[in-house]
Amino acid sequence: MDPWPCSLGEFAAQVAENIAVDEPDFAGYWHATAESRIVVRHCTQCGAYSWPPRPICAECAGSEFDWSEASQTGRLYSWTVVHRTPTMPWRDLVPYAVGVVTLDHPAVRMLGRIVAVDLEQVFIDMPLQAHFEALTPQVVMPVWTPIRPFQVDGEM
Ligand SMILES: [Zn+2]
Repeated sequence: MDPWPCSLGEFAAQVAENIAVDEPDFAGYWHATAESRIVVRHCTQCGAYSWPPRPICAECAGSEFDWSEASQTGRLYSWTVVHRTPTMPWRDLVPYAVGVVTLDHPAVRMLGRIVAVDLEQVFIDMPLQAHFEALTPQVVMPVWTPIRPFQVDGEM
């Protein structure tokens, strides 16, 4: 018997149900992505930016934060290609790339799927643009696409 007898859309909805969009450390982020924006934690004591949100600042141990608007562009720091997934509904997406993206500002790193790209064309430092993929109206996740043209093997 198929252990995941539902469509990808249903599975995505189940995943979304388990994301607490009002959890205090992440609420500002989820509210922003639902508006197609990215925000990151900003320590009001020392000014450090951080991602993912933590209850205590890694730089100064402060515990007061606000949210800072972040750029929706960045560069690919690292990535991997998923060829197999243990969860059956995601099989329709394989192979797909998951990357660590360094935002242009502030320079924090986030995980996200790299979409709309030939996997053979993915490279370190690839310039990327965020797009927003809604699992539900409340749970919207950034995904990343290449900003073209980019240099590949000396060609534009
Ligand atoms: Zn701090």
